[in-house]
Amino acid sequence: MARCDRLGAISDERGRLTRSFHSPAMQRANALVGSWMREAGLDVREDAAFNLLGRWPSSRRGARTLLLGSHLDTVRDAGKYDGPIGVLVALAAVTYLRESGLELPFHVEIVGFSDEEGLRYQTTYLGSRALAGTLTAADLARIEERGLRRARRRAGEFVGYIETHIEQGPVLQNHELPVGIVTAIAGADRIRVEFQGNAGHAGTTPMALRHDALCGAAELVLAAERCGVVATVGQMGVEPGASNVIPGRVVLSLDVRHGDDRRRERAVHRLEADARTIAATRGLRVRWEPVQRTKAVRCDRRLTGLLVRSVRRAGVEPLKLASGAGHDAVALSAICPVAMLFVRCKDGISHHPAESVKRADVACAVTVIADVLAELGRRGAKSNYQ
Ligand SMILES: [Zn+2]
Repeated sequence: MARCDRLGAISDERGRLTRSFHSPAMQRANALVGSWMREAGLDVREDAAFNLLGRWPSSRRGARTLLLGSHLDTVRDAGKYDGPIGVLVALAAVTYLRESGLELPFHVEIVGFSDEEGLRYQTTYLGSRALAGTLTAADLARIEERGLRRARRRAGEFVGYIETHIEQGPVLQNHELPVGIVTAIAGADRIRVEFQGNAGHAGTTPMALRHDALCGAAELVLAAERCGVVATVGQMGVEPGASNVIPGRVVLSLDVRHGDDRRRERAVHRLEADARTIAATRGLRVRWEPVQRTKAVRCDRRLTGLLVRSVRRAGVEPLKLASGAGHDAVALSAICPVAMLFVRCKDGISHHPAESVKRADVACAVTVIADVLAELGRRGAKSNYQ
């Protein structure tokens, strides 16, 4: 917790916490966390994408690597725990296991990714995608730093990636649980919807003769609320936008998420049919424009099963939940099995200075991660986790 406080004071901006990709504050953050990793006896380096890596090598020949960590960059005016908690929990767990004299049949590497939030280049997972080797030509064309491709790691090198992260939602607090196990990271559809009706005088046009675009949009907002998956209308533009004029045109954003792609896609199709029915009934025109679709990422059944057992051994009921927000684990899923542990955060607040976690909850996460590593070590001889 003291380390979170010290990291939280390292910022590119006075008076608020902001660390963007390869900024002066990120360089100082990497130097500080790197010094803690060295203190713990790890081999420390920075890769070509400025990801910080601390390695605990195994003496076993031909050993593969288990990757643990999260990101050290932040959003603008951030909290202290989104990202760093995953790196520092891993470091505490590894420190404990090393001090207790344990030897593992796999290498452990702790990574602090250089960019997850995308503050500098408006492109998320820069650090983890560089490591996974999935940066696109478009990414590389926009980014000033060269040589990012050299951060790519060997295919098959990792047995898995386990990320600890604050929940960024209220579910664990609601269940009064310190930690929870992530089953999937939700996929998302973003759609731009436009209703076109007729603007007219708010006093002289009878109700029965109106084609009010906002009334149609309002019906779609309520349909989204009832559609059975997580769906949000977060933006709405009303034109012409005067108190005495019937709305002639409305453009709105629709964001639909679920950990199961088929359920999400079915909900999106239903909402599109709803929008067309609403428009037909009200004599409006509707345009339905998909803007972006990202697929859900399933967490690895085996690693997730290990987390469940370790959470239970820690005396906590193992609650499974889907993550509505994206994480570095999404990028890592391109090259290895991934799993995630969530830590309760106060009132579900994140991306805000009020972000807060309990000391005892973080201690629980350290216990769980250490237990997973020890259990993987015991199974190592009989499995492919080596
Ligand atoms: Zn994060």
